[in-house]
Amino acid sequence: MSLIISSRLAAIPYYEPGLTTADVLARYGLDAAIKLASNESPYAPLEEVQQVVRQGSAGLNRYPDGAARALRREIADLHGIEFAQVVIGNGSCDLLLLAGQALLDPGTTLVHPAPSFGLYRHLAAAAGAEAIAVPLDDHGRNDLAAMAAAIDERTRLVILCSPNNPTGGYLAAPVVEAFLDTVPADLPILLDEAYYDFVSEADRGRPLSQARHRPNLLLLRTFSKAHGLCGLRVGYGMGSPEWIAAIDRVRQPFNTSTLAQAAALESLRHPVALDRRIQETISERARVAAALTAMGVRFTPSQANFILVAPDADGVHERLLAAGVIVRDGAVLGCPGSLRVSLGTPIENDAFLGALAVILGRSAPA
Ligand SMILES: *Cc1c(COP(=O)(O)O)cnc(C)c1O
Repeated sequence: MSLIISSRLAAIPYYEPGLTTADVLARYGLDAAIKLASNESPYAPLEEVQQVVRQGSAGLNRYPDGAARALRREIADLHGIEFAQVVIGNGSCDLLLLAGQALLDPGTTLVHPAPSFGLYRHLAAAAGAEAIAVPLDDHGRNDLAAMAAAIDERTRLVILCSPNNPTGGYLAAPVVEAFLDTVPADLPILLDEAYYDFVSEADRGRPLSQARHRPNLLLLRTFSKAHGLCGLRVGYGMGSPEWIAAIDRVRQPFNTSTLAQAAALESLRHPVALDRRIQETISERARVAAALTAMGVRFTPSQANFILVAPDADGVHERLLAAGVIVRDGAVLGCPGSLRVSLGTPIENDAFLGALAVILGRSAPA
């Protein structure tokens, strides 16, 4: 006997997670491997954050603050916006799914970039809406002219991703602003800024200024990448009270845990220590890019904590795995022939560059 389930479920794409380190060690009989596959921080959460998590465990017989008041207050103050303009999610993935529930219905459309984050298609499928995937431009950026052209009277949500995963392409502020001027002022636009912290362009804060006077713009950020807290699941949205209220209507009352809220709050209180890590990743990005150029390997210029590399040779992903270097195969991310390589510590990045040089028969960068 089979279970009767919603016909919408068949349309939901299966999310394929990357290989775990344990998977790779077992498959290739290795003792050690480095993981550069999931855009994680190579560093453990800051010591003060770990301490807060340990101490917080004693209070877990009580429910969390469902409204996450302390964390929302801190985020609002940090960005110079109102408390009512912040919503906290169980990772920003939670907020993406909630935005889909709040805005989409059968017969409506969601316009999103592709290749991009796999979850975007999911929102539409879950709501019985139609996902309209708009190809990236030649620089791995969201093609905003093409996305604007894909919007019609059925469109209820547009998702932008900058820097875009898996390409790292970044949208300059004037391009985003011109797009916002083009689209209907009441059409919800969600800009996923999961990699915001790693952007070294001076105009990276301008979308937030736009959100102050454009009630249709929601920005999504996360503690999963730069803060190194993906295991705890905390993300946040910033936008108009209307946007926040729409998400709050479909949010479960206790969607983030006590420990997640406390850890995120503590992590915000050590900006200098955090920035040291971020600056290292940004300088490693430049160093790895220069090494790839020296080796004659193509890649997409990135403003994120990963680089999409196109080695122009077969079997490179498999051979890197066998060498204990776990990177993500672009084929499952919509970029066949490419590898998405997360930036790790300098030693890890050297291990990747060294293994790639051996596989491609090039001399290793100095
Ligand atoms: C990693 C990532 C997220 C963050 O997901 P969390 O649920 O916050 O861990 C969101 N969007 C994109 C594009 C990402 O790559």
